[in-house]
Amino acid sequence: MRLVLLGPPGAGKGTQAGRLAEKFTMATISTGDLLREHVENGTALGREARAFMDRGEYVTDDVVVRMVMRRLGDDDAQEGFILDGFPRTVPQAQALENALAAASRPLSAVLKYKIGDDMAVKRLANRLTCPNCKRTYNLAFKPPTNEGVCDACGHELVRRQDDDEVTVRRRLEVYREETEPLEFFYWERGLLREIDAEVPEDVVTERTLEEIADLADVEGA
Ligand SMILES: [Zn+2]
Repeated sequence: MRLVLLGPPGAGKGTQAGRLAEKFTMATISTGDLLREHVENGTALGREARAFMDRGEYVTDDVVVRMVMRRLGDDDAQEGFILDGFPRTVPQAQALENALAAASRPLSAVLKYKIGDDMAVKRLANRLTCPNCKRTYNLAFKPPTNEGVCDACGHELVRRQDDDEVTVRRRLEVYREETEPLEFFYWERGLLREIDAEVPEDVVTERTLEEIADLADVEGA
């Protein structure tokens, strides 16, 4: 199964990606991490990316797509993959589509996690993160057992600076402007599948599995 996940901040995309990757042995690919690795390791692609960054420019879609395609050659991506956080724009989606078609590995589906602004604000504004083990908590839905302390490692929990209501609403607006054309791009191709994510994460997982059941059957995953 080859998936792209879309959804605004607070939709729980990361959690669902992790669960899917476990259940179906798919590689979860984050382009942010890929870019960092290539630059740190000084690969040919990393040096190309570095040249843009040194000039204060964005790394081109072409370079990012080549990094993704390289990553898809790894053993753990052979049975499938999940792209989280990429593509973000229509030109990126187009470049990805061309590269995947050339490799005969077109996308199986694009999952869109839907959540209203008020719910996103409620989730993000109540979110606490453990800086040590990266576990997340939510004061409204999933509070830590002991106030302000991580259940797993005992570290003090922190709130992200940009998780206040005004900033969250602005982030949601930017997200919508950016991704609406992208959703249309995938809808036109019959790939878009919407999942209501305004419910507890276990229910979202169930809905996700129902939504992709036909794909899992076809590919024997
Ligand atoms: Zn912790």
